[in-house]
Amino acid sequence: MDKKYSALKLNIFDKFKCKGGTCVQTCCSGWRIDINLNEYEKIAERNRFGKSLDSFFTDFEIAGKKKKIIALNKDGSCPFLDNNKLCALQLKCGEEFLPKTCRIFPRITLMCGDVFEKTLSTGCEEVVRLLLDEKDGLALEEEKSISRGKVFKYINGLAFNINENAIKDRPALSCWFDIQFLGLSILMDRSYTIEQRMLLLGMAMIHIDEFEKKGRTIEIPTYINAFLENVCGGKLKEQLSGFTKNEDLKVKTVISQAAILFYYGERESDIFDYIEKKLEIEKVNISNVNKGTGENEKVYCSFSINPEYNKETYNKCEEFYKNFIKDKEYFFENFMVANYLFLYIPFKNRKLSIFDNYRMFAALFTTFKFCIATYMDNTKTTDDLIYLTVAVSRTLVHNNRLTERANEILNAADVKTLAQLAILL
Ligand code: SF4
Repeated sequence: MDKKYSALKLNIFDKFKCKGGTCVQTCCSGWRIDINLNEYEKIAERNRFGKSLDSFFTDFEIAGKKKKIIALNKDGSCPFLDNNKLCALQLKCGEEFLPKTCRIFPRITLMCGDVFEKTLSTGCEEVVRLLLDEKDGLALEEEKSISRGKVFKYINGLAFNINENAIKDRPALSCWFDIQFLGLSILMDRSYTIEQRMLLLGMAMIHIDEFEKKGRTIEIPTYINAFLENVCGGKLKEQLSGFTKNEDLKVKTVISQAAILFYYGERESDIFDYIEKKLEIEKVNISNVNKGTGENEKVYCSFSINPEYNKETYNKCEEFYKNFIKDKEYFFENFMVANYLFLYIPFKNRKLSIFDNYRMFAALFTTFKFCIATYMDNTKTTDDLIYLTVAVSRTLVHNNRLTERANEILNAADVKTLAQLAILL
């Protein structure tokens, strides 16, 4: 292997160590774990569980592709978890028999040319605890000329490979490192509030979107350098104060957005039930007309796109958030930076435009902010914040349809432009 590979790693990457049996929100519970048929056959050859594997797996089909999923226990936990909450598959068969999902989580690896990028999911409570420790912010550290063994291991765990074919499909991917540098520079510029940083990111993404649509991707790096020149040191603060605010519209849109994203989330979460009760969020009866009888049928109770809520309680939540963010803005920054990398913004969904991917990222921001303001309060602890962050991440960030859902909701609420998005931030 003559080619030299290097890696960019999140500065907390090597600090991560799985908590195993002491993990409260263990990733071995509460969400679907897919395995492919090769992985299943490999386990079947080394079945040391004294019973048929059928009790551990069920057949599943995704896009016409046969797979197996782990048949979770009634409490949502993985049947391979032993009494000490450790993985019996790993203990009895070895790490190499673990399905890719279990072997990799919470790590994720991307590749662009001969550079690997390694980051971590905020859907893991140990990762969130590490984010809380990093008051000076996150960083990407370079690891030069990595070994052959590591290269094969990284390639084996790739989530996204920015190779020639990918660039042919999305020419703007040729500016991957420029766009990444733009996002990290803006999200970590503490001369702006975290809301202003999200707005600045939106302003840049609109232009990059236009360059791509007009086939002028070659101009993106120059535009990014000029934009960052303008941004650094708070130069654009005044310009940002020009965006109008509409508090009531913001709250109603964010409530329905959060409600739908949690409803369609990849896992059950009590977070939104708690918020709904606290804010007395109005629910509406959704009924269909029975085609046979023509009668109205009460189907289910759901949230209207414009729900009423207890404004007095919400104003108290806003007051709490203003105090909370005074010493925790670094944590919100770390959460957004980690997810800018984990969701490979703005290319999470490569069928959608750069601006639509940004809108999804903004929906993650507004939903997390809303949850902090309404779920947390002075009675809550750091453990509650970790619980909330992991639940939001698993429900939204690990939801493969997050980008489409977020855009469907924002379209329905007629939030299509940056000025309209600014109201929500
Ligand atoms: S959530 Fe994180 S710390 Fe907990 S078991 Fe999974 S990988 Fe380990």
